[in-house]
Amino acid sequence: MEARWRSSAKPVQAPKTTKTVSFEEVSGKASSSEALPLSLHLTNAVFFSLFFSVVYFLLSRWREKIRTSTPLHLVNLSEIVAIFAFIASFVYLLGFFGIDFVQSLILRPSTDLWNSEDEEENEALLRKEDARKIPCGQALDCSVTSAPIISAQKVVDEKLVKLTTEEDEEIIKAIVAGTTPSYSLESKLGDCKRAASIRREALGRITGKSLSGLPLDGFDYESILGQCCEMPIGYVQIPVGIAGPLLLNGKEYSVPMATTEGCLVASTSRGCKAIHLSGGASSVLLKDGMTRAPVVRFGTAKRAADLKFYLEDPENFETLAVVFNRSSRFARLQGIKCVIAGKNLYLRFTCSTGDAMGMNMVSKGVQNVLDFLQTDFPDMDVIGISGNFCSDKKPAAVNWIEGRGKSVVCEAIIKGDVVRKVLKTSVESLVELNMLKNLTGSAMAGALGGFNAHASNIVSAVYIATGQDPAQNIESSHCITMMEAVNEGNDLHISVTMPSIEVGTVGGGTQLASQSACLNLLGVKGASQESPGANSRRLATIVAGAVLAGELSLMSALAAGQLVKSHMKYNRLSKDVSKTSS
Ligand code: ADP
Repeated sequence: MEARWRSSAKPVQAPKTTKTVSFEEVSGKASSSEALPLSLHLTNAVFFSLFFSVVYFLLSRWREKIRTSTPLHLVNLSEIVAIFAFIASFVYLLGFFGIDFVQSLILRPSTDLWNSEDEEENEALLRKEDARKIPCGQALDCSVTSAPIISAQKVVDEKLVKLTTEEDEEIIKAIVAGTTPSYSLESKLGDCKRAASIRREALGRITGKSLSGLPLDGFDYESILGQCCEMPIGYVQIPVGIAGPLLLNGKEYSVPMATTEGCLVASTSRGCKAIHLSGGASSVLLKDGMTRAPVVRFGTAKRAADLKFYLEDPENFETLAVVFNRSSRFARLQGIKCVIAGKNLYLRFTCSTGDAMGMNMVSKGVQNVLDFLQTDFPDMDVIGISGNFCSDKKPAAVNWIEGRGKSVVCEAIIKGDVVRKVLKTSVESLVELNMLKNLTGSAMAGALGGFNAHASNIVSAVYIATGQDPAQNIESSHCITMMEAVNEGNDLHISVTMPSIEVGTVGGGTQLASQSACLNLLGVKGASQESPGANSRRLATIVAGAVLAGELSLMSALAAGQLVKSHMKYNRLSKDVSKTSS
């Protein structure tokens, strides 16, 4: 009897072997084969040989009788013996395999899921499963398989509860042994919470490390399936604080900030207060276009230049836009900027993406255009849909100069009185500090878009709270903070110019419950009903407004020499204030 549980098809810790372990060995239950007088392999060999020999003998005799026209029912002694031997060996084999097969079905109802002979078979099964659902292997459908039925029944059937627990234990063992891939749990069980729980338990056993402190309950694991996170084992809690109200363009916003940095929310709130008392801030959206830049290669630089001229010719734009815009009803091509490096051409496509941050949307449009271009430029070799001239999640001058996502400028005039009473400093000190720190100091440091005090602090906290991609904090935090004394030196004009704020209010993590609640608080949840893109554009202006408040407050604390003091007050237990970002 071949084992259905391989102990080490791909062991996680143990060295690789081909030894097989029967299900009975694993479960400790009795097997029908234990009753055999000879060893299992010897008995099998005898009956297999007997079975095939008599089958061969009987078939030869049968053929001979047909050839000599002898009636088939006339049998001699050797044929009678052969028939008996055939029946005996057949009964043995049937009984042996049949009983074990039935045992395996009774004891492990989902044998098809956990009993693959080897990992290749398991993976093949998975690929087949996944292919039937959503492409790309990561999107798994929880709505199928028999497990939900078991889950529902266990509420009312105590016996079955025990069975499910035992089943979980078997699955955990299979994961630890490496015979069941952990990533397949969601699709196989059809219960994402149970999958996370089993994966977590298996991980604990494999690593020997405790996961207590990482919560499992209280999270909707179905909501992240195939979209936000694979192989979940829990979730990290980040507190959300509220800064504000931020008075921006005549409207008040309570800005949610997810952070573990003490002082940050309080400081931003103080900036909001100063802005509010001074009549509010105003912001202007200068540009709205997500980018993607594939790299293509030709045989010669001349051919690369041919495509560049073709793409930049205004006469071709309309055709290219039609092809590009087929990707989505929200994607609208705005332009293509090309740069050449030898025989290689980088095509930076820019398009509006409605309320989505737009990376998927722009990528689909770019793929359409590349497919279209292949007809006229068959010698074009597409090296990669992203050639880093986009440029996503990396510091790059192209974003700083050309913009990416939303380009926003936000300004406020802070009354001299407010600067003194709320910010505890003077207009003159702020202007001087800004010039020497944010402008000259950053220039000396060779900063790329980093002409600010701590824009990324506010950007990251708002991004995490509202379900944005936190990795895009890199270019989204590009910011130049300007300060100038106005109204005969009495008041302060402060502005932040941020060319690449990459935000969306649909797609990605924005639809998750907590993040969605934060977007709702700002009045920008989901797709705008009035005009597509209005919500994400407003969110970008709120981000810039919050950055303005953060800049104002931190710069004031620095100018007044208060930074160390306030950090000592809010983070005094554990924080090394020398490490605060400013
Ligand atoms: P991204 O392109 O930011 O990665 P998605 O791939 O999730 O985001 O695309 C957003 C999805 O939301 C698309 O399928 C799009 O059709 C849909 N959608 C619905 N309403 C809007 C809207 N107002 N703006 C943009 N996309 C929207």
